[in-house]
Amino acid sequence: MRAVRMPVPVAEAFAAALDLAGPVAGREALPPAEAAGRVLAADLAAGGPYPAFDHAAVDGYAVRAADCAAGQALLPCPVQVVPGSRPAALAPGSAARIFTGAPIPAGADAVAMQEVCTAGSDGEGRPNVRIDGPLAPGQNLRRAGEDIRAGQPLLDAGTLLDLRHVAAAAAADCGSLTVRRRIRVAFLSCGNELVAAGEAAIQGVPVARDSNRPMLAALLARPWIQPLDLGIQPDDPARLRAVLAEAAGAADLVITSGGMSVGETDHLPAAIAALGGRWAALQVAMKPGKPLGLGRLQDAALLGLPGNPYAAFVGAVMFGGLVLRRLSGQPAARPAGQAAVLEAEVSRRAGRTDFLPVSVQAQGPPLRLRPLGPGGSARLAPLLAADGLAELPADGAAVGPGGAEVLFHRFRDLF
Ligand code: AMP
Ligand code: MG
Repeated sequence: MRAVRMPVPVAEAFAAALDLAGPVAGREALPPAEAAGRVLAADLAAGGPYPAFDHAAVDGYAVRAADCAAGQALLPCPVQVVPGSRPAALAPGSAARIFTGAPIPAGADAVAMQEVCTAGSDGEGRPNVRIDGPLAPGQNLRRAGEDIRAGQPLLDAGTLLDLRHVAAAAAADCGSLTVRRRIRVAFLSCGNELVAAGEAAIQGVPVARDSNRPMLAALLARPWIQPLDLGIQPDDPARLRAVLAEAAGAADLVITSGGMSVGETDHLPAAIAALGGRWAALQVAMKPGKPLGLGRLQDAALLGLPGNPYAAFVGAVMFGGLVLRRLSGQPAARPAGQAAVLEAEVSRRAGRTDFLPVSVQAQGPPLRLRPLGPGGSARLAPLLAADGLAELPADGAAVGPGGAEVLFHRFRDLF
């Protein structure tokens, strides 16, 4: 991993982020009901067929379709088949009362739904049924494996399991599911001026509320992540070294915010270097968020976010999301975004990628976006009305009144 002091282009920073770490090795087997929200560790094939056996799709009468081919039929009906029982074979020329989910008796090949049947009895009180046919073979029954064949590939490794996946895995008799262990993510805020939300301020000192740590906690609040909140840390080199060394020993990824820039109170880059860590990137050619670090310390990946809240947010969702998915074993790539047109004039400097909060003006095509201002790396209010971020490429010129082609990253695709 090379140390880079110059701002690296955003494309290179994405590549470096993907390179920081591979998926964690640990696995555990969980019953389907506990596996939702976890990442499947290996490809999964159906353990058995679904449906598991041929069964009635309706309440009615199991018959040989040929016995009802002529239209109306009157058949003796000596037996009942309920779900969870093992039926005897169906005698030729007879019907069996059957209920939804019950196994089809051998010999039967159709079910007459009860709405076309009239139950009765013959002169000696034996039950029979009149069926207003005709019936075709296969009617109103479900065959074993017609939905999922035994052994059929069902889910790919890396799938973030949701309720659909656990339903299918349980139905296809897959037993317990092997998922990757939760990734451990330590996070901290850095700054002498910071006070946690809800905590009393320091008497007589102007303080800033720590918003980055709650933001990161929200990003990390997922079943596949085990967050480790390391609190607010002071701008103190010795203290930072101690906290970072411990964090790297306990976590797969350490995320910091603040203290990443070049001022005298920014101690994180030096603290990492002093501990033998390496930065693959220390600055990224983007706005907001230039003081963004990607690196490694011991066995942990490192993401050093800027302190300014909008910059920290952009770094967290654009780079953090990707590192998290990569570590967890999910498919991970640079956020792809969607081609869109930005509807307003934006002044910008060439050579760096801009990320602007935008709202969707028209679904298009083309998708039209409106920038929400005022801009600034410390602004949070514009985000509240935004649907996502517009990415303006570094090689693009200033954006004139005609608009510009940009990439749209919808928040729901990012977090
Ligand atoms: P820094 O990146 O440490 O130079 O901080 C840049 C700006 O972001 C300063 O105004 C800090 O007070 C502010 N800031 C740093 N960390 C946080 C945080 N965790 N929450 C809110 N604001 C922060
Ligand atoms: Mg600071």
